[in-house]
Amino acid sequence: MTTEIKPQVDVRQPVEYTDARLNANIPAGPIEQKWSKHKFEMKLVNPSNRRKYTVIVVGTGLAGGAAAATMAEMGYNVKAFCYQDSARRAHSIAAQGGINAAKNYRNDGDSVYRLFYDTIKGGDFRAREANVYRLAELSVNIIDQCVAQGVPFAREYSGYLDNRSFGGAQVSRTFYARGQTGQQLMLGAYQALSRQVAAGNVDLNERTEMLDVIVIDGRARGIVTRDMITGKIESHLADAVVLATGGYSNVFYLSTNAKGCNVTATWRAHKRGAFFANPCYTQIHPTCIPVSGDHQSKLTLMSESLRNDGRVWVPLKAGDPRSPDKIPEEERDYYLERRYPSYGNLAPRDISSRAAKVVCDEGRGVGPGGLGVYLDFTAAIKRLGESTVRERYGNLFDMYERITGENPYKVPMRIYPAVHYTMGGLWVDYNLMSTIPGLFVGGEANFSDHGANRLGASALMQGLADGYFVLPATISNYLAQGGLEKVDSTHSAVKEAVQSVTAQTQKFLDIKGTRTVDSFHRELGKIMWEYCGMSRTDEGLRYALQRIPELRQQFWSDLRVLGSSDDLNQELEKAGRVADFIELAELMCLDALERAESCGGHFREESQTPDGEALRNDDEYCYVAAWEYTGEPSKAVLHRETLHFENIHLAQRSYK
Ligand SMILES: Cc1cc2nc3c(=O)[nH]c(=O)nc-3n(C[C@H](O)[C@H](O)[C@H](O)COP(=O)(O)OP(=O)(O)OC[C@H]3O[C@@H](n4cnc5c(N)ncnc54)[C@H](O)[C@@H]3O)c2cc1C
Repeated sequence: MTTEIKPQVDVRQPVEYTDARLNANIPAGPIEQKWSKHKFEMKLVNPSNRRKYTVIVVGTGLAGGAAAATMAEMGYNVKAFCYQDSARRAHSIAAQGGINAAKNYRNDGDSVYRLFYDTIKGGDFRAREANVYRLAELSVNIIDQCVAQGVPFAREYSGYLDNRSFGGAQVSRTFYARGQTGQQLMLGAYQALSRQVAAGNVDLNERTEMLDVIVIDGRARGIVTRDMITGKIESHLADAVVLATGGYSNVFYLSTNAKGCNVTATWRAHKRGAFFANPCYTQIHPTCIPVSGDHQSKLTLMSESLRNDGRVWVPLKAGDPRSPDKIPEEERDYYLERRYPSYGNLAPRDISSRAAKVVCDEGRGVGPGGLGVYLDFTAAIKRLGESTVRERYGNLFDMYERITGENPYKVPMRIYPAVHYTMGGLWVDYNLMSTIPGLFVGGEANFSDHGANRLGASALMQGLADGYFVLPATISNYLAQGGLEKVDSTHSAVKEAVQSVTAQTQKFLDIKGTRTVDSFHRELGKIMWEYCGMSRTDEGLRYALQRIPELRQQFWSDLRVLGSSDDLNQELEKAGRVADFIELAELMCLDALERAESCGGHFREESQTPDGEALRNDDEYCYVAAWEYTGEPSKAVLHRETLHFENIHLAQRSYK
């Protein structure tokens, strides 16, 4: 390993390492028995007592929608919140390619243990074994649950559910519904939620943005929201709070996430005491439509499923001006197949993304600016016929053609990596409870089970495992322990939280500067992509840690938000989200700087193998970094949860 230690630039106070105060509450016993034993040992709430408890669920995507519907079905009072105009428009609806499950329908060697192994290895040994095993175990139940709901998964001629392969696996375990798997799964969760809304067990609040968590006597007891239509700010109280509010890729401004995705819910919880884990672990997806200019506010994913049949290549020669059909086979570099013969085009996302960057940095990229590689279906069309390719990927091909004006049945797609998913999030224990007792976190919002790199088709699996199976059990266990005093809106903590949200909302309007929210967001995104993106250096991160606080200072002195706070005001909504992104960005860079190793999606240029692969440093960094807010992102305190690998041996990852 070549680790160059740069002289300390005084961008922040040195990080204070505390003894790990984190108890992951991992049950004892063999890994195969942990969850079932834990479920048996957890306390239950008697069915007739459940109606006495209220649970707030923020987020109605796959994780939140599943959790809210399931807990209401069990008999709890549920209050659900989302900022979209309909719960079913949560960002999960965008998921295209599929959902993993260890059903082994193909009889190709899959098992719960193999899914567990692939996920730990895919995450570059930076995830908690016990959680990952449980995830693999629950994957099979998810498919049964969804089929029972009527989710129209693709089927083979025989009638069995069909599967395809995703990156980082050598088996076919990805269940799908054309290129709309998220949408179909969402409809399943949404219908279950709607049933409970109709039954009066879920109070559904759409177009309502959560802006703070209420903590009373050290426990999460409610939230503060703003009605996005009327501007009304109010408190909601409960016995437990769940955040299932999605990921924060939009800190980079350009990402494959919907424009609305943001970090506000988890960031505000962080400021109230929830530790933020591994904030720098970002997933850059290798197959997205390349950036085409400054006018863009969002990027488009081309599902990883396309790499089942599409071959990735660039010209052998740098600066080759010929169109792809004029470049003969022997003058092409199928670089994934060459570098990773065992996994080929289905090498994991972090590896494939970096490989694309390498060939583009060598001047062999294609398309405008040389930031693109080909994803070519010529061979697949020849082998399978156009109609089969159309059946498998038709809607993705149509989407590509609508955006680029090129017909991918005739010319290879051009793709380039883009920010897609965040493995970081609020720290949770085995019960998915954060460091604020009573505050649970599910789906992409928690620091999750994916370590430093998520495998394709595993986010939907995790969101639904959390929502349908884990949270309903662990929240019951929490509630059954009792000790929750009755609280009402006259409590000083409630008043303080409402007051602080009201004051901050007004503050944005009062700045009356000259710059739009978007101009700050775009500038932040450029800093993050440049210095905390696909590859990171000590020097670059230190520079970003100087620039971001300057940007924050400009934001708070020169922002202009028009309109008022008692009306629909999207600029005002964005101001709050970008204020949080700027603070989060600083923590991400701090986290990336502290982790002077490469692992998964976190590639530190100083730490690579001779052939350019990520080089971990297990002696020093085999931990989850959980950051505590102490008033300023730059003064965040790092706590470390050491990761223990008792079942799968730590090894240098190889996909060759
Ligand atoms: C284009 C694309 C394709 C993908 N394809 C796949 C795939 O094929 N397979 C796979 O496994 N994964 C895929 N992913 C990843 C996966 O879709 C997401 O990780 C997952 O759906 C997240 O689900 P979630 O329930 O955690 O959050 P989301 O679905 O993002 O839901 C978040 C919810 O929280 C609410 N919310 C957020 N903040 C607030 C607030 N402050 N106040 C009130 N409500 C709030 C929102 O309104 C929403 O209801 C894809 C991602 C993208 C971007």
